[in-house]
This record gives sequence, structure tokens and C-alpha cells, in this order.
Amino acid sequence: MRIEIINTGSELLLGTTLNTHGAWMGMELLGLGLRVQRQVTVPDGRAIIEALEEAMSRSDAVIVTGGIGPTSDDISREAAAEVLGVELITDEAALRSLEAFFARLGRPMAEANKKQALNPVGADILPNAHGTAPGIYAPPRMSGDRLCALFLLPGPPSEMKPMFREEVMPRLRSLAGVDADYQMELLRFTEIGESDFHTKIDHQLEKIHDLEVGYCARPAEVDLRLIGKQSAISEGKRIALAAFPDECFSAQSESMEEVVVRLLSEQGKTLSLAESCTGGRISSRVTDTSGSSEVFTHGFITYANEAKTEVLGVPQTLIDTHGAVSEQVAIAMAEGALRKSGADIAASVTGIAGPNGGTHEKPVGTVWIAIATHEQSFAMHRCHTNRGRETFKQVVSQAALNLIRKSLLS
Ligand code: AMP
Ligand code: MG
Repeated sequence: MRIEIINTGSELLLGTTLNTHGAWMGMELLGLGLRVQRQVTVPDGRAIIEALEEAMSRSDAVIVTGGIGPTSDDISREAAAEVLGVELITDEAALRSLEAFFARLGRPMAEANKKQALNPVGADILPNAHGTAPGIYAPPRMSGDRLCALFLLPGPPSEMKPMFREEVMPRLRSLAGVDADYQMELLRFTEIGESDFHTKIDHQLEKIHDLEVGYCARPAEVDLRLIGKQSAISEGKRIALAAFPDECFSAQSESMEEVVVRLLSEQGKTLSLAESCTGGRISSRVTDTSGSSEVFTHGFITYANEAKTEVLGVPQTLIDTHGAVSEQVAIAMAEGALRKSGADIAASVTGIAGPNGGTHEKPVGTVWIAIATHEQSFAMHRCHTNRGRETFKQVVSQAALNLIRKSLLS
């Protein structure tokens, strides 16, 4: 099935809003075994007409986002009617639900909102429980030499996403006659690179009939994507897990922080963190995960030496003797966090993010990560290349979370 996406909105081209819809939809559709063939971004206004004509003449389904609001630059609805060659008429039910939406807010409905109830003849209204703009679905009709279906969805992500899942996905599933057995699974790895997969398992994966294999590498993480029938996926999974049993942190597409929060809650344990060079990144990642309030007690951001001594009780002599970036200080930070928080496990990081501050013995990128539990404390040394502060934080937070994961599993 050939699917194209048209994202409308001048803000997407001016660069003031990041176009996240295309990436998000691509992932959602892949879950159905469907692919986006092309994605274009057009400014507000009549540019959408040309994009629609082009896309509809070569696709089975076209998904438009944005431009169905009440303002004068929102013309996706009018453009669709023009390209479909039909009139726009007011949908009475849509008008009533718009009125009800404003009544719930206790606000009068502006005249401009009325145009949001306009619907191209022959199209269906897609309800929007999260905003004013109803979506539109025009069932397949001849366009050029093929049948093409058209979806118009609102721009705000909080409205687009539920509508996509509830209204678009089921229709695409039936239009495509999706093979229910066709699936995608994501396995996530850390501490290995794409080349390790190439040397160790690619030749084995290639032999599996009807299995599509893909990789996505990002700092301190590689995703292995397996697409095909369940039997082919299982075989690919078996090979990957046998080759990299410790490096695979999730075989269910969980993020590292989700794995850590899940393990903590399964084991009924609590975590606290003492962060220096990551400035709270690890705590932020943990608290991105639902359920973290049950397992995360404290995040100490102790950046200055005084903060390490005053907040965590790191002895000043340790810092004087070994330096703030040292195994001894990392362990003392983790032990201090454990003591102050009363958590079951504490982790600490101290390092040199750069670009300044490196020395011959401790070059930029030197990091110590320590774990303390009531039974033991241990540290590990990591040295990263200097790839900028943002990547540094991501890589160090990943390594620390992975160490927590391993400690929970051991
Ligand atoms: P709309 O009025 O339907 O054009 O949508 C406007 C709102 O949705 C603005 O807040 C936009 O920044 C946001 N928006 C529209 N398209 C996208 C997109 N492709 N990715 C992320 N946000 C978007
Ligand atoms: Mg807009």
C-alpha cells in the first residue's frame, strides 16, 4: 500500500516548530507493517493543492496534517474539496459537537469556528475529543489511474495522535488488508555498535526467509528492528540474544529508563541518584517514566565541590587527594546518596564533559560511575571521546542506567 504524508504549516518550514508528525506516524504505521513512501512539508496556503494533486495521483492513501483550524490560513479542508472536485457542506452533527465543545469550556463559539464543521460531500467526519477541529476521511475514489483515500488531521500533536490511532489506523488496516501475522519487534542494545551486528550476526539473519532487518544507532544505543511473520521474528530474536545476551537491555522496545523503573518496581526497591556532570539528566530520564514515583526517592545534583561535601558528606580530603573526578569521590557520592535518602540502591556520576577542564591524566570525557547498595559499593571507569556536552550527557546517563540495570539483575 502506497501511503504519503503531507504536513502543512509555515512554522514547520520556518524552523520554529519541529515537524514531529512524520516520524511519529512512520513508527505507528510500521507497527501495522505499512510504510510511508513519501513525506512532504508545505507552507500554509494554496501550496497544499499542488501537493495533494501530486500525492493523490500516485498513492493509495494520503494523510494531511494541519490547516483545519478556524483561521484564514487554515485551508486544508477547502483544498481537499477542490482537489476531490466536490462541494463543502455543513455537517450538522459536527456543528453540534463544536457547540458542545465551547459550552463545556463556558465560552461562546466564534463565527470562524463554524467553518470547522464544513465537510467535503461524500467524506466522513472524524470526531475530535481533544480540540475543535474534527478530522475528515474521504473514502477511496479514483484519482488519476488509481483509488486513493484521503485523511485530514489536526496539527496539534495532542489532537492528531489520538485521532490517528482511533480513526486512521483501523481504516488503513482494513484498506490494506493487513496480514494479522505480520509484525515488527524492536530489540534495544547498549555498549555495542552497528558494526558488531555486522560482524557477528548479519550473515545469520540474512538467511532467515522473509525477515526484514534494520538498525537504528543513536548515542550509546542501537535498535535492531525485525519485521516479518512471528516465526521469522522469533528466529532472528534468538540469534541476536544468543550473540549479545548482556548488551540487549530490552526485547520489548522499552527504553533504558523504563527497564530500570520496571526492575525496581518488580523487586520492590528504591533508587536515589547523585549527579555531577550529568546535571540531573539521569533523574530526568527516570522521572520520564510512569511509575517512577514509587521507586525514585532523591536526585542530588551536586555540581560544585561544596555541594558534594555539604549535601552528600563527601570528605573534603578525598577531593583534595584524588580530585572531584575520581573513583574514590564517585563511591563517596553514591554512599552519601544512599545514606541521605535511605534508598535501596544509589548511583553517582562524576566526570569532565569538556570542552575545557581536561588534563593529561584526566582527559575530557573521563567519567566515574559508582553504585552503592547496603551490601556493597563499586565504581567503574568510563572514558568517552569528546563529542560535545549533549552527547556526553546522554552517553553517561545511559551508562549509569545500564549499570543500575545490571546491578539489579545480578
Ligand atoms: P494547525 O492549526 O492544525 O495547523 O496546527 C497548529 C499547531 O499544531 C501548532 O501548535 C503547530 O506547531 C502544531 N503542529 C502542526 N503540524 C505539526 C507537525 N508536523 N509537527 C509538530 N507540530 C505540529
Ligand atoms: Mg497551521
